[in-house]
Amino acid sequence: MTLLGALKIGLEPDELLSRHTSWRIGGHAIFFARPKNTEELTGILEFARCERLPFYVLGRGSNVLFPDEGYGGVVINMLEFKKDFMCAHEAVAEVSAGMPNNQFVQKCAEHNLGGVEFLSSIPGTLGGAVVQNAGFSRRRGVINEIGNFVEEVTVLTPEGRMRTLQKSEINFSYRDSNLRQYVIVKIKLKMISCPQKQVLAEVHENSKYRNDVQDLQHPSAGSVFKNPQAPSPSSGRLIDLAGLRGYRIGDAQISPRHANFFINLGQATCRDMLELIALAKDKVKQKFGVKLEEEIRYVPG
Ligand SMILES: Cc1cc2nc3c(=O)[nH]c(=O)nc-3n(C[C@H](O)[C@H](O)[C@H](O)COP(=O)(O)OP(=O)(O)OC[C@H]3O[C@@H](n4cnc5c(N)ncnc54)[C@H](O)[C@@H]3O)c2cc1C
Repeated sequence: MTLLGALKIGLEPDELLSRHTSWRIGGHAIFFARPKNTEELTGILEFARCERLPFYVLGRGSNVLFPDEGYGGVVINMLEFKKDFMCAHEAVAEVSAGMPNNQFVQKCAEHNLGGVEFLSSIPGTLGGAVVQNAGFSRRRGVINEIGNFVEEVTVLTPEGRMRTLQKSEINFSYRDSNLRQYVIVKIKLKMISCPQKQVLAEVHENSKYRNDVQDLQHPSAGSVFKNPQAPSPSSGRLIDLAGLRGYRIGDAQISPRHANFFINLGQATCRDMLELIALAKDKVKQKFGVKLEEEIRYVPG
């Protein structure tokens, strides 16, 4: 009954999650969904509710760690969700949650809109970026976060009801928000008018910087830990000073290039990665008394 109903609404049984995460880690999900629009999404949520299955929303999977045992529910992948971009007056844009960050920034540039250039080299979808309050700056002391630009977010509640949350109802914090309980479908942002040439030049500089300092050659989820508050050194620096740069468990390794990037050398398992994360936390706590906090999202099976 479950399988027949699932197939009818296009769910894929037993999909391997390592195919859908930037870490290339994760076992099978009972069901995998790729909704293209709100109607399909509503049907999937209804199915999960009726079958009493949990669901997990996935963008590009660039900040997520799934167990080797997989996920005992429905993984809803937003990558094939519609990618509408609408530019209204006064530097306001409305964007679908499945839009990849780099495409979003390109579209903004075409409309002479800037401020969000930092997002261009962060892998992922706009929905994932908003939930995570993604950010990046190559300049010390400058904080660029997507939350600063969000005016309104349209979501589906787990019960399948459409809601629009205003800026005043959304709490953004360092790589977090109060939006995790929802499925984001649309975001309204207020940006800054800026000539296309200037936007593209900033995108180029960011990309050059990231290529120079980050390990982009191996599968990873970007920075594993949030940075502790100033004046503490960064998480990467602390891990490095703890002597762990290049340390390896199985095929999971602390990148020799950037100690806050934990990379998959080929066959790393979730267990390897969790052990490496626990080791880094222990050593840094012992040596410097600093409690590192994960930026990546571990999804219990
Ligand atoms: C090489 C590399 C570099 C990175 N650099 C940065 C960086 O500079 N700054 C930074 O902030 N991050 C960085 N990241 C981490 C990651 O790219 C960001 O967190 C990104 O915003 C995640 O987007 P995603 O679409 O891949 O989301 P996912 O990783 O798929 O999901 C992340 C979280 O968002 C939720 N989610 C995703 N889409 C939706 C939706 N539509 N509705 C509701 N919930 C949703 C998921 O449930 C999950 O909790 C990097 C990652 C990599 C691999």
